[in-house]
Amino acid sequence: KLGGKNRVVQFHALMDTEYQLKQQLKIDLKQAIADKKLHLAYQPIVDPRQNRIVGCEALARWNHPSYGMISPATFIPIAEETGLITDLTRFVLDKATRDCRAWPGDTRVAVNISARDFRSCDVAELVGEALEDSRLPPGQLEIEVTETTVIEERDSAGAALLKLYDRGVGIALDDFGTGYSSLSYLSALPFTKLKIDRSFLTGIETDEKALKLVANVVQLGKDLNLMTTIEGVETEVQLNLVTKHTGVDLIQGFLYGPPLTLDAFTRLIEQQYSRQTPVSLRLVSA
Ligand code: C2E
Ligand code: MG
Ligand code: MG
Ligand code: MG
Repeated sequence: KLGGKNRVVQFHALMDTEYQLKQQLKIDLKQAIADKKLHLAYQPIVDPRQNRIVGCEALARWNHPSYGMISPATFIPIAEETGLITDLTRFVLDKATRDCRAWPGDTRVAVNISARDFRSCDVAELVGEALEDSRLPPGQLEIEVTETTVIEERDSAGAALLKLYDRGVGIALDDFGTGYSSLSYLSALPFTKLKIDRSFLTGIETDEKALKLVANVVQLGKDLNLMTTIEGVETEVQLNLVTKHTGVDLIQGFLYGPPLTLDAFTRLIEQQYSRQTPVSLRLVSA
C-alpha cells in the first residue's frame, strides 16, 4: 500500500515537471519566434533518374538555449496549441521563399502548412504575401498539407488551396497513407503532388506484397496526374527497388541527404548548376 501511494506521489511529481516544462517551452517558443531565432533546414528532393536535385523541403529547427535542439515533433504541436503556428508559418514562408530566390535555375522549395493555419488565417493571402515580398515565381513554391488537414479543414483548406493552385503554387499531399481511408478528397482538391509516407517502405526488401503496395500507390498518384515522391529512402537497396519497380518521380530521404543548413544546401545546388552535370550522389557522402 505504501509503495502504491509512493508511486502515485511520484506520478504527480512527474506530471507537474512535465507540465512546467511545457509551460516554459510555450514561453520560450513565443520569444524565439518573435526574435526570429528559429532556423530552417533544407532537405534535398532528387529526381533519381537524372540524378538531379530538383528542390528541397524547408524544415523548421529550434535550438533552445538550455535544452539544445528540440524536435519539430515537440514544438510544432506546442505552436499549434498556443496559436503561435501562423507566426511560425509566416517566418518559414518568408525565409524559404527568399532563400529559394537566390538559388540557381528553377530550384523549388516546399513549406509545410498546418491545419491550424487554415482556421486562423487566410492561407492564400499568407502565401501570397511571401511570394510578393520575395518575388519568387509561384511555380517554384510548393506547400505541403497532410490528409488530416484536408479532412478536418475541408472547406477553408479547399478554398485556399484552389486560389494557390490557380496562381501556380504546387500543392503536395504530405505523409500520404498515414491518415484517413476515404480517398474522395484526392480528386476533389487541386493537388499537384503525392508524397508517399516512409512507412510504406517497411519490409519492401523482403516482402513482395509491400513492394507491390508502394508501386500501386505510386500508380494511383500517376493516374490522378500527380507528381509522386517517396519519402524516407535510407538505403541503396530501397532506392533500387523503388526506382525499378515503381514509376516514382522523386525521392526524398537520408540516402540522398538529410536536412542541411542553408549554406550546405546552397553549395550543393550551385555545384550542380555550375558543373552542368548531375551532382555526384549520394549527396552527403560525396
Ligand atoms: P514532414 O513534413 O513529413 O517532413 C519530413 C520529415 O521526415 C522530416 O523530419 C525529415 O527530417 C524526416 N526524414 C526525411 N528523410 C528521412 C529518412 O530517410 N528517414 C527518416 N527516418 N526520416 C526522414 P523533421 O524535420 O523532424 O520534421 C518532422 C515533421 O515536423 C514534418 O514532417 C512536419 O510535419 C513537421 N514540421 C517540420 N517543420 C515544419 C514547419 O515549418 N511547419 C509545420 N507546420 N510543420 C513542420
Ligand atoms: Mg512535409
Ligand atoms: Mg512528409
Ligand atoms: Mg511526416
